[in-house]
Amino acid sequence: MERYLRARAALATMHGKERAFARPFGALLGLELELPAGLDTDQLGSFDGRVPRTGGPEQACRRKAQLGMERLGLPLGLASEGSFGPHPQLPFLAAGLELMVFLDQKRGLEIWERLIARRTNFDHRSAAALAELEGWPQRVGFPAHGLIVRPEQPCTGTQDLIFKDLADQQQLAGAISAAAAGSSNGRALLKTDMRAHRNPTRMASLRSLATKLAKRISTPCLACGAPGWGRVELVPGLPCSWCGWPTSQVRGERLGCVSCSHSEERPRPDGLTEADPLHCPRCNP
Ligand SMILES: [Zn+2]
Ligand SMILES: [Zn+2]
Repeated sequence: MERYLRARAALATMHGKERAFARPFGALLGLELELPAGLDTDQLGSFDGRVPRTGGPEQACRRKAQLGMERLGLPLGLASEGSFGPHPQLPFLAAGLELMVFLDQKRGLEIWERLIARRTNFDHRSAAALAELEGWPQRVGFPAHGLIVRPEQPCTGTQDLIFKDLADQQQLAGAISAAAAGSSNGRALLKTDMRAHRNPTRMASLRSLATKLAKRISTPCLACGAPGWGRVELVPGLPCSWCGWPTSQVRGERLGCVSCSHSEERPRPDGLTEADPLHCPRCNP
């Protein structure tokens, strides 16, 4: 797609996300990314919990992209936003939801892409000393992956005590002791650092997400030619293999345009045309 060739887009990040985004956007669209200097995206909500995020992740993501565009005076902008916690379908598995948006102010376009990262190191622990953790830091990828250490129950004067960017076991042990000493219960709270530049696992998810979004932007709508054609929803109703009744299983996907009302339904990419009667409300109520 020639549309964005050599165009410049603002990428609002202070966590090194350009390492994941620059290549797919350059290779697939010829788009160059520019970083606004001195932008504090943490004002929209920070992973260490000191600034709670107001509104939903979509709102925070859009706002971040707009901030970057305003700062650089560019009509194109990009931003991403991650949320971590139990997987929506698998409550006992930690998962990450990564959102990414591309804004084209002149054409009034807002193009989104989403990714559920099943592989994430999102986790936390409480400890009075490093020895108590029995190898947990290594299991969550420390020191290649960062850890954030704070007092578990801060006392007056230690609310802002926080340790990040710890380089090794020795610094981690020191941070745990200091945070524990500043906690009314004598324990430190350790959290995996989810900032992209301190989390190679998350950086890899962001790379796949950026590739998905760049591909979507490079796909024009068949009806109006606007960029951003792609999947908008999954369509349920896969017929039961015994009685043909529509089940709650996915029948296909709906592809749509972000600019006009054109959309098309396509069968499942895996070719499955019938559902197991196990999912049928008639055969297996
Ligand atoms: Zn049936
Ligand atoms: Zn269209």
